[in-house]
Amino acid sequence: MNAYKVNPQAKFRLKEIKADKSSGDKEKVKAKLLELNRELEELQEQLYAEHRHKVLVVLQAMDTGGKDGVIRHVFEGVNPQGVRVASFKSPTPLELDHDYLWRIHQAAPGKGEMVIFNRSHYEDVLVVAVHNLVSQKVWSKRYAQINDFERMLAEEGTTIVKFFLHIDAEEQKKRLQERLTNKSKQWKFNPADLEERKLWDEYMKAYEAVLQRTSTSWAPWYVVPANKKWYRNWVIASVLVKTL
Ligand code: ATP
Ligand code: MG
Repeated sequence: MNAYKVNPQAKFRLKEIKADKSSGDKEKVKAKLLELNRELEELQEQLYAEHRHKVLVVLQAMDTGGKDGVIRHVFEGVNPQGVRVASFKSPTPLELDHDYLWRIHQAAPGKGEMVIFNRSHYEDVLVVAVHNLVSQKVWSKRYAQINDFERMLAEEGTTIVKFFLHIDAEEQKKRLQERLTNKSKQWKFNPADLEERKLWDEYMKAYEAVLQRTSTSWAPWYVVPANKKWYRNWVIASVLVKTL
């Protein structure tokens, strides 16, 4: 799993990690995931019972990257009592009146709790940087602010693990088309995703900066090859079980 961990010291190039990478036999890996699900379920129960540690899992990805799939398949079977998903959409006017970490901090895990961030404060250096929603002078300070914030959480007892679900532009195209043609997936189709897709290269640059600058010993990033859903799920489940 360490192969996918972004080393805080080393130079990081997103291109060096292939989105369609996998290893092992698909059916065997899927069976292994079921075992990891059971392990995760047991460990989460202990986390809850002990009421001491806090766990924060951050999920970031391009549109169609598979955050929802990870939440469904990796956390399958965990007790909803003690696991919470916090989804961060475009900020409300009230949220925009505050600093960008205001809404994030409120959603952070308490003792015994595991919280999954479906998008996160990283949007404030991703979509915000790509669209210049605030000036560069403002957003460029945020990498260090985020590192400080996460270090504070860690020092106060939160274990943080962050995943970037890495798909390539071809795979996104396939998934968007699937959303258009497959009736049961149409509800997920959002025409705005097509507009964002045009900015793919800008997003990749923004992600590269994030991964390079905010992978720390107290809150590491993992870049997960995510074209193949079964492999993606297995990588994340393995990292989580090890982390717990
Ligand atoms: P998702 O796209 O995560 O699967 P969704 O399609 O259900 O979820 P959307 O309405 O697309 O929900 O909400 C997510 C959108 O909110 C993304 O386009 C994201 O970039 C945007 N967003 C999240 N946080 C911020 C932020 N801090 N500033 C601006 N936009 C943000
Ligand atoms: Mg969306």
